[in-house]
Amino acid sequence: MLSGFQMIAEYAAKPYAILGTDPPSTERGSRKKKAYLTFDDGPSRQTRHILRILREKGVKATFFVTGKSSPELKSYYKLIVNEGHSLGNHTYSHNYGYIYSSIAAYRKDTEKLNDLLARTVGVRPDIFRFPGGSDNHLSRKAGGRHIMAKIAREMTNIGYQYFDWNVSSTDAAAVTLPKQDILASVRSNSRGKNQIIVLMHDDDHKTTTVEALPDAIDWLKKQEYKFETLSKSSFVFQFLHPPG
Ligand SMILES: [Zn+2]
Repeated sequence: MLSGFQMIAEYAAKPYAILGTDPPSTERGSRKKKAYLTFDDGPSRQTRHILRILREKGVKATFFVTGKSSPELKSYYKLIVNEGHSLGNHTYSHNYGYIYSSIAAYRKDTEKLNDLLARTVGVRPDIFRFPGGSDNHLSRKAGGRHIMAKIAREMTNIGYQYFDWNVSSTDAAAVTLPKQDILASVRSNSRGKNQIIVLMHDDDHKTTTVEALPDAIDWLKKQEYKFETLSKSSFVFQFLHPPG
């Protein structure tokens, strides 16, 4: 579960593209629209509801998970993978003060979660999402002005790919944002974009994210988006590019 501090930090990350525009389409002539739904911070009490909806809608998504110790929550790591979704690393602790204190701390916390996932599911994700996104300001307090760029470079060098988002559902703007507000954000933030990485949260408190999900999927389908999962070779969107 996230503390208020962490939830504010998550929201503080700019929900809109710093890069501004869509990357050029790799498939010339075809206007293929792709949507990558992403759920951060799980597993939680909402995970099984999210999985059920995705199953009913025939949609695959990506879960950026954190470290959980209860047997019930740990069982969801396996369910996520078994149902064909992609698993990404979102650090074990999700503790900004610790993970952003140094390159070594971030790496250690990521490996700690990957060790747990290897033991419980048999996979070591090579994709991750920074808690708060790669442009969060609170990291600077913990590790200095350039800590994000340094961590991004290190993690990229050792074989990881990280993903931000170009469509925020804004479900972190309040503990429980009204369903209609979440839907309005998905609609307005995806306008004009052919490839979208949609930020949502899998958290005990995010009941309205679950309520909004079927309608959000239906709306995206109507806009002719095809749903895919993130992987090292998929479309990538990053606020911050590792220098050098
Ligand atoms: Zn998070």
